[in-house]
Amino acid sequence: MLPVRMKSPLKPDNSLDLWLGKPAPRYTSYPPAPFFHAGVKAVNYQRSLKSLPPDQPISLYIHIPFCRNLCLYCGCNTMITNRSERIDRYLASLKHEITMVAALIGTRRVSTLHFGGGTPNAMSSPDIRSLFTFLRNTFDFSGIGEIAMELDPRVSSAEQVQTLADCGVTRVSLGVQDFDAEVQSVIHRIQPYELVAELCGWLRSTGINGINFDLMYGLPKQTPKTVTDTARRVCVLKPDRIALFSYAHVPQMKKHQKVLEEHGIPDVYERLELDQLARDILTDHGYQPIGIDHFARADDSMAKTFHDGNLHRGFQGYTENEASALLGFGASSISQTSDGYFQNEHDERIYQSTVAANNLPVRRGFLLSHEDRVRRAIIEQMMCSLSCDIAAICDAMDYPLAKIATAFERLDPFVRAGLVSINGATLRLTTPHRMAVRVICKVFDTYTDHASTLISHTA
Ligand code: SF4
Repeated sequence: MLPVRMKSPLKPDNSLDLWLGKPAPRYTSYPPAPFFHAGVKAVNYQRSLKSLPPDQPISLYIHIPFCRNLCLYCGCNTMITNRSERIDRYLASLKHEITMVAALIGTRRVSTLHFGGGTPNAMSSPDIRSLFTFLRNTFDFSGIGEIAMELDPRVSSAEQVQTLADCGVTRVSLGVQDFDAEVQSVIHRIQPYELVAELCGWLRSTGINGINFDLMYGLPKQTPKTVTDTARRVCVLKPDRIALFSYAHVPQMKKHQKVLEEHGIPDVYERLELDQLARDILTDHGYQPIGIDHFARADDSMAKTFHDGNLHRGFQGYTENEASALLGFGASSISQTSDGYFQNEHDERIYQSTVAANNLPVRRGFLLSHEDRVRRAIIEQMMCSLSCDIAAICDAMDYPLAKIATAFERLDPFVRAGLVSINGATLRLTTPHRMAVRVICKVFDTYTDHASTLISHTA
């Protein structure tokens, strides 16, 4: 291995104080999910579903909230089980929920289908086949663009991969995090390089060529060497896309994360260095940086979408797809329509009993005002393109630019520190530290300032 060295070592930089380690949402929605509330109910979701434009395709998200073991860094909504009867019961409720929604919207065209978790491949192969058959019988899959599934390499098998290929899966995301054995031991996720390499081989041999890796920095025991070695080994396996996430340490919400503090968690400056090291290696290997934390091979469609300014951001991160609605199914899943957001019950039992009583299991949500939609559009464009013509958005959405003017005043310190430039009403991130855009977006967010303890920190 080559010595570990950053191309652009960190220099003393006063502008870091303005954003590094500051609480700021990741803006996979606006307002962010902590602002969803119980005043939004199933009846609001029903109304919104009934008013979906009939000729527009929809996106589907299916949440499978089960894992075999708990990873100590986990921030997802999941439950630990090895009991197949429990998963089967959940899948029966899931199908019932889908049937109820389909009764309201009819046989819609589906543009994308995404399975997240948890561990979607905790489902057995017969369960996967049965769920796909059910979905194809319920919705119109004839023009579907992408079927994606998050996979845990530790529970994958060649037989399961063949099932996924038979069912039409075109893209998978593999949770990799870090290949170092000591890091894996501390975070309770033992997953050697060879295991991931073997899985990539199975996927490609069955024709599933859309392969994403999820990496993470900021974990205990991670060093410049572990992150550098991991990034180099990832490049050997040639995934099309890579997400490089910062670890969100929120033990006040995820108690199991507290244990990780015994091993020491890198501080914000160390995290920034790890991020920079990984970025340098990925870009040296031809990966194009996309948004704040994604990378794609230059010939990948996401790289083109990013350069064309057509990228979107949602609960699954960056996406090329802009459907009229994203309908989420399963415990804790979130649906998004032009009216707002609707989140299902987190609790598996309440979710199942609500569905059994023939009610949609909506627990909370948020209904958007016109101003919310304008601010959402500005924040989404900044998060995706790192620049935004705010006047053009206000114009297109028939909203007075003057009402956004106070946000421009609050940008002043960021402009003076060289983090952003303003030309007319066009804002552009000018720092190479892309994560800083989260703090810039907060200027346009009328909710987050008041509850920053609910929000993860940058880097
Ligand atoms: S596999 Fe993913 S969802 Fe499951 S415990 Fe680990 S990090 Fe959490």
